[in-house]
Order: sequence, then C-alpha cells, then structure tokens
Amino acid sequence: MKSICVLPGDGIGPEVVGCATRVLERVTDQLELHTADIGRRAFDRSGKYLPADTFAAMEASDSCLFGAVTSDEGAGYNSPVLRFRKELKLFANLRPVKNIARISSAGMDLLIVRENTEGLYTMDEHEDDAGVTTRRRVSESACNKIVERAIHETRRTGRKSICCVHKANVLRKSDGLFLRVFRDNARTCEQDLEFTDQLVDSVAAKLVMEPDTFDVIVTLNLYGDILSDLAAGIVGGLGFAPSGNMGDKHSVFEPAHGSAPDIAGRGIANPTATILAAAMMLDHLGFSVEARQVRESTEQVYRSGLGTIDIGGALGSEKFTDSVLCNLESMS
Ligand code: ATP
Repeated sequence: MKSICVLPGDGIGPEVVGCATRVLERVTDQLELHTADIGRRAFDRSGKYLPADTFAAMEASDSCLFGAVTSDEGAGYNSPVLRFRKELKLFANLRPVKNIARISSAGMDLLIVRENTEGLYTMDEHEDDAGVTTRRRVSESACNKIVERAIHETRRTGRKSICCVHKANVLRKSDGLFLRVFRDNARTCEQDLEFTDQLVDSVAAKLVMEPDTFDVIVTLNLYGDILSDLAAGIVGGLGFAPSGNMGDKHSVFEPAHGSAPDIAGRGIANPTATILAAAMMLDHLGFSVEARQVRESTEQVYRSGLGTIDIGGALGSEKFTDSVLCNLESMS
C-alpha cells in the first residue's frame, strides 16, 4: 500500500484533482489517498498558504498529487509551490508533451527535463534608486543532478536523444557552466544516446516549425517553464500538460497549468493533464501496468473522436473522466 497526499488547492484544482482521483481509485486499490489543504483555503483556515500540518503530510507520504493554487499579488506572499519544491528538494521537473488530441499534424512526443530549484526562481531581487537587480543562481551540483536525471529518464522511457537548451553565447559563465557539465556527462556516458545542444531562442522557433524534432530537452528553470507552456500550446493548451516534481526522496505530480480562475466552478476544465500526472505518479511508484492503462484509456478518448471543451469538443471535466473510466473498464 502506498500513501498519497492529495492537494486539490484553488480554482480548478479541486475539479481536475477530483477527476484524477476517480481514475486512480478505479485503476488500483493499492493507494491510500488522504487530502490536505494548500493555497487560499489553507490561508483562510490557518493564516498560511502551506500550513505545517500539510507540509508534514506531504513529507510523510510516498508521493503527492497537487492541483493548483492561486497566486497572490500582495506583498509578503510566499508561493507555497516554490516552498515545497525547495524544502522537499524536488530538483527536477519532468514535463512530457504529446500530441494526443491530434489537433494539428504535429507529431510531438517530447520530454522536457527542467531544473527546478535555481535560476531566476531564487526570488533574490534588490531595488535601488535606478531599478531592480535580480540574481540568478546556477550551481555545478544542480547542473550535474539535472543532467544525470535527464539521462536516467531518457533511458527509462526508451528515448534516444537529449538536447541541452541554453543561452551560453550571452550568459557565458552561468549557462556556460551548464553546457560544460552537459558535455562532460555526454563524454563519459555510454554511446547509446545522442547528445546535442542548442540556443533557447532557436529551440523556441524550431518547436513551432518542426514540433517532432526533439526527443528529450534538458534545460534551466525559466527556459523549461516557458518552453513547456509553448510546447503545450502546440498540442492543444495547458490542459494537456502533466508534470512531475522529483527529488531523491520526495515527489509531487501536478498539471503544468495554474488555477485558471476564469473557468473555475463551471465543470469545463480539461482534466487530461492531471489524469496524466496521476499516471506519471503510478509509474514512479512502480505501478507501470496501471500507468500504461490510464495513459491508454485517456488517449483512446481522443482517438475515438471525442474531445474536451478547451479544444472545441463537447466533454466537460466529469464526462471526459467517465469516458476514461469506461475505456479502463473495457481493458480489465
Ligand atoms: P494562476 O494565477 O493560477 O497561474 P492563470 O489563469 O493565470 O492562473 P493558468 O491557470 O495556467 O493561469 O491558465 C492560463 C489559461 O489557460 C487560462 O485562460 C485558463 O482558462 C486556461 N487553462 C488552464 N488550465 C486549463 C484546463 N485544465 N482546461 C482548460 N483551460 C485551461
């Protein structure tokens, strides 16, 4: 039995997480799901966006399934997401992007491996009379960890080539360090994988013009954030982009999108990203057969010509999930 901390959060978070837990409960009885609050609801209860009891529950679980939280613009706001990524040492963010809805001819089936703890996300900003200076951290150890993780994930998923995405022609020291670490790893690696590198701006153009070019991308925090949303846009939008935050000990799986307050409470959010994030969690916990069944049942809904509302289809969140469950049923 594995224990899962379920964190629905705000906005569409509870809706899409509810859909994913219906799928999890159907596909296995080997998970113990317990819910904890995070974000605005947690703040209203405890005065904290990530209360101590929630953090303790995350730490004590085998894995976590998270929805989304609404960002607060106010001064003094500490993002609970950045906090749990840092404190649970979730150094790698895995973002697979696949064109399952076939909304274009793009044959995209890409894995973005994003460094998750450093770069511009250290929130180290200083104001002076002339403006603001933001410090950007790139450490050799974080570069090594993310490159090693990318190599591991490439092999684990049966992929073949890894592209290091950087801006080392301008950021010669920081991105230069990342590129050197990547090339050092490539040199000492077995010859079963292909290693290339490319500037982030050219990768952005290529993803749009030739979406099936890339297999695995390993990149720094901000580039990974932007490129993965861009890639999601090519395959139908943020409702199709799952992600997994991985550390050596802990893991948190979530859709790449936010709380989408513009559509919250209407039952029209696309739960695909969260259901696929739950499948990533199943894989991570060793339930690879069940993970494959969830992915296959989800893709089958789109293959059968049905679609979610965000891509012009007719299925709201619950009806889409009903179709996934129906496909799961016919597999067992
Ligand atoms: P936040 O402040 O939490 O980041 P946001 O609206 O700024 O919220 P997202 O939640 O990522 O950012 O949403 C961006 C856009 O994508 C919104 O128009 C939203 O409706 C849409 N969107 C996001 N997730 C989904 C989804 N699962 N299904 C359909 N549309 C979605």
